[in-house]
Parts: sequence; C-alpha cells; structure tokens
Amino acid sequence: MKVLLTVDLEQDCPPYLDTFRGMEQGVHDLLTLLTDAAVPATFFATGVVARRYPHTLATLVAQGHELGGHGDTHRSFTRLAADQANAEIARSSESLRRLAPVTAFRAPYLQFPDAYLPLLEQHGYRIDASQARYKLHALRPSPPSRLQRLPASVPSSVLRLPDPLRRLWLNRLASPVVLFVHPWEFVDLRQEKLRLDCRFRTGSLALEDLQHVIEHFKAKDAHFITVSDGCRHPA
Ligand SMILES: [Zn+2]
Repeated sequence: MKVLLTVDLEQDCPPYLDTFRGMEQGVHDLLTLLTDAAVPATFFATGVVARRYPHTLATLVAQGHELGGHGDTHRSFTRLAADQANAEIARSSESLRRLAPVTAFRAPYLQFPDAYLPLLEQHGYRIDASQARYKLHALRPSPPSRLQRLPASVPSSVLRLPDPLRRLWLNRLASPVVLFVHPWEFVDLRQEKLRLDCRFRTGSLALEDLQHVIEHFKAKDAHFITVSDGCRHPA
C-alpha cells in the first residue's frame, strides 16, 4: 500500500480567516513530526505563502519534502475567468519555482474547472491533485488530459475524528491513499468562531491524531511517498 501525505500551505482556515498562525506556529511542529517519523510529504503552497515564508519553504525542501502549487491567493478557480485563472497559476508558479522545481498542483477547496486543465499543462505541471474521491462529482468522467490525476482519499477533518471512527474510514481506503492536512489544524483554534470542521480537535490533539494515522499505516507496512514518486510508480 502506498500512502501520500500532503499538506496545503495557506492562510488559516480559508475563506474564514486571513491570519497565518499555521505558517508561523503549526508548520514547525508538523515538520518535526515528519522528521521523527521519517515520512516524506508534498506541500502544496500558495504564492502568497511562498512570498511571505520563503525560508520555511526552503527548509522543508531541504528536508526532502516536495513543493507543489496551490494557486496564488487561495481564491476558488470556479469563480475566476480564464485570464484570472491563468494569472493565479503564473504568479504562484513563478514564486514557488524560485525555491524548488514544481510539477504538482492542487486547487484551493479541491475545486478546479475541467476547462482550465490545459492551463496547468501550459505552465509545466504534470500532476493534478485537485480531485476528491469522496465528492459526488468525482464520479463524473474526466476529459482527456496528459496530466496525471491523484485524488484525495478523505477530507482532512476525518483524520481528527476519535480513533474508532477514524479507523472505520482509514480501513476502507485503497492504495494509493492520498491524505491531506493544513498547518492551521496544528494550532489550537477550538475557541475561534469558525465552522466546526475547521476547529474541532485542533492544536496538539491534531498533531497526536496525525501521529496515530502514520502509525496506523506503518503497521500495515505502507510505503510513504511524495506525489511525484506516486506518479512515477502508479500503484
Ligand atoms: Zn487550501
């Protein structure tokens, strides 16, 4: 079984907050956990994050993690005209590629119009990780594209469910398992006025949960790989 752990680097709980506590506090603990567990991850970062926190991104690249694109400002591509979508991809790619080669993309909110897939190819992307197996429209056939698609397997909040419930979800997943988390989940947002799925069991509890998820898959002899590795060796 292959497991791809991915992380979306962005402002806190978009579109509700415009702070960056995840980037300033949460990501450090996450990187320590990944180093201790010897698990490589793929970090999809916005262009805004690349310009605000270039040293954090350089650090995670130096630690062997992969960098991917997550749009520039975290606006939903479903609300952008073609020229705006092109500008979001162009600007973010330029900022991110100063730090590392970037060939994987995930759209904010896992929403990316099929009509814009050629834009990704034009900007040098080979992999699109914007789809979600657990969304209804994932059942729709995709248009032909040279891009490799790597859909997310479960919503990020599922990883924070109490252990018995979480196991029910995780035991049903087929390889390649694509998990995703956000650095703001590792900041205690439980007292914030936010949607429940943005705040429940956030902070050190979420970090413990992620540790348990990694142990769950290691106990099944899972192989943790980056998104590019997953596409080089399809499951
Ligand atoms: Zn996002």
